[in-house]
Amino acid sequence: MSTPITVAYGDGIGPEIMEAVLSILREAEAKISVDVIEIGERVYNKKWSHGISPSGWESIERTKILLKSPTTTPQGKGHKSLNVALRKNLELYANIRPCISYHPVIESKFDKFDVVVIRENEEDVYTGIEHRLTGDSYQCTKIITRPGSEKICRCAFEYAKKYNREKVTCLTKDNIMKMTDGAFHAAFDCIAKEYPDIKAEHYIVDIGIARVATEPEKFDVIVTENLYGDILSDIVAQTSGSVGLAGSSNIGSEYAMFEAVHGSAPDIAGKNMANPSGLLNAAVHMLIYTGQVGTAKLIYDAWLKTLEDGIHTADLYKEKRSKQKVGTKKFAEAVVDNLGKKPTTLSELIVGSSLDSKVNKTQGDFNQSYKIRKLVGSDITLAWNKSADFDQIVKLFESSNLKIIAIYSKGLAIWPGSPKSLSDQITCRFIANNEKKTITNSDINSLLVKLEENSFDVVKMDKLYLYDGKEGFFS
Ligand code: NAD
Repeated sequence: MSTPITVAYGDGIGPEIMEAVLSILREAEAKISVDVIEIGERVYNKKWSHGISPSGWESIERTKILLKSPTTTPQGKGHKSLNVALRKNLELYANIRPCISYHPVIESKFDKFDVVVIRENEEDVYTGIEHRLTGDSYQCTKIITRPGSEKICRCAFEYAKKYNREKVTCLTKDNIMKMTDGAFHAAFDCIAKEYPDIKAEHYIVDIGIARVATEPEKFDVIVTENLYGDILSDIVAQTSGSVGLAGSSNIGSEYAMFEAVHGSAPDIAGKNMANPSGLLNAAVHMLIYTGQVGTAKLIYDAWLKTLEDGIHTADLYKEKRSKQKVGTKKFAEAVVDNLGKKPTTLSELIVGSSLDSKVNKTQGDFNQSYKIRKLVGSDITLAWNKSADFDQIVKLFESSNLKIIAIYSKGLAIWPGSPKSLSDQITCRFIANNEKKTITNSDINSLLVKLEENSFDVVKMDKLYLYDGKEGFFS
């Protein structure tokens, strides 16, 4: 039985590479039935602000699988990123990007390089929650949830299991962001215990990325948060040889999207020059996702053999290593001719026997991870254009239900003691000033009213809780 998939030809080189890839899938007898939708520039121009029409969404909702060519995001106001819309609407929480060096066939900086970057796709600073607090201060909110972190870490270990990988490395900055990155790291440690046969390690992200860039052979599967993953996956893709080679999978609990890593390359569009390999690799992973492992391997082997034969598109062509410079169509024909043949130098695709496991949605559900939560204070941020004399504000609350125990500027304690730096906003830490060391929301409301009555300009308020006695805030 064939699997229905939605196919989008996209912009720029998109239609050429999609034609090439579909011709290879057809000849390899992939069991897919294709529903074509329009996305990108022409749809943006029809005033669908995300570059996809309602009928496009309907098709994806029906098939649950999208094979997508790159699109051009039009400049100017009113247009929203199609990829962000797809990721958010389809809840594609995992971006999986295998990056491999094809040494000695393709020139690359490293001989041995086979790294898979698994990037969390829904959380972190990419939620777009940003605020201007004052004239000179801006804030971006980083959201990390325990279920979201568990889901992506489980996805990484499941990937390692399925593709016979030995190690999963987690990258965070939990030496600085102890709560958000600390939660991600803790989720990783917890999930790692369920996979005793796979080695688990953690690096602080800066040294981790430096090591990936200099000793990539020491890494296998890497799992990390959205922003670090965004930066890392481009570094890894660049190091591996050509932007035209890598494909990526975006996986959710219900939907999946497969695409090349590169963009629509308008500079070479319509010239029959584009390398279809990135999209072909994405399609190979789509076939594995649909359970067609044999067909995926057949195509991947034929593609490797074509590279070994020295049949290269212009982006890969080197006089010393290549034999024939070909266009997009001829490259696809060469891959078709090689169906059934095996590569002799390059490594074949290793896929375990189980089907690509879609991570069970319930595994990421919210469970209350504490018994008692106690409200003990509030951090209140004020716009501040005065001197560093804080006595007036501290005295004002000395005998209230909440008193100031510290004042911070950009996270640095500037009271008590002498202020080292001052910005145009300060944060006053108010803590319960009674025997029970507990307060209510009404206490915080009264505090806000009193600040306003005394002409202090409140721009932000955060509550301070103890979770089973443990501080849920920085100190
Ligand atoms: P790009 O990846 O399109 O091109 C960068 C360079 O790589 C260009 O010189 C291009 O010719 C070359 N290149 C890219 N793919 C190639 C291939 N398959 N074969 C041979 N050479 C290839 O990046 P860009 O120029 O920054 O972006 C162009 C457009 O693509 C922009 O509108 C951008 O928003 C969009 N874009 C879309 C996606 C997506 O849809 N997923 C991703 C990235 C960029």
